[in-house]
Amino acid sequence: MGGVKFFDLRRWGYAAGHYICHCISCALSYEGNKLSWRCHACALKAKREEENAMDEFEAVLADEKAQEDEKRFDFGDALRLLQGGFRVAREGWNGKGMWLALQVPDNHSKMRLPYLYMSVATPPAGKADLVPWLASQTDMLSDDWVLVAE
Ligand SMILES: [Zn+2]
Repeated sequence: MGGVKFFDLRRWGYAAGHYICHCISCALSYEGNKLSWRCHACALKAKREEENAMDEFEAVLADEKAQEDEKRFDFGDALRLLQGGFRVAREGWNGKGMWLALQVPDNHSKMRLPYLYMSVATPPAGKADLVPWLASQTDMLSDDWVLVAE
């Protein structure tokens, strides 16, 4: 019961025993369990390779998440984008085709001052329903605002 023998390498092909086996990785004979298929060293190597692959996989996932996070912003940025004529939405909103925009009245408008409105849905054929919009506490404190393409 010493050192590396504590690792349970059965998943990678090694189990302790007194049977003379042939390793499928290095083709050398080793002493192990009758049903094992890798020597201790090759099983350990296989385990490490799998762990490294998992680390790389997790690094890729973390990178993707970071890129996703970069697309999100807070309400302050959302407001500036609206003022710049862009459409924004919250990821937390359920429902496709929901977004906000700022309407700036011209001489033909009934309204005299700019206001925010929301598109609540985009039917397959036809126009979205547009309604006046007010921010809730949750909306203002959220960091999941995203830009919406026109
Ligand atoms: Zn081997």
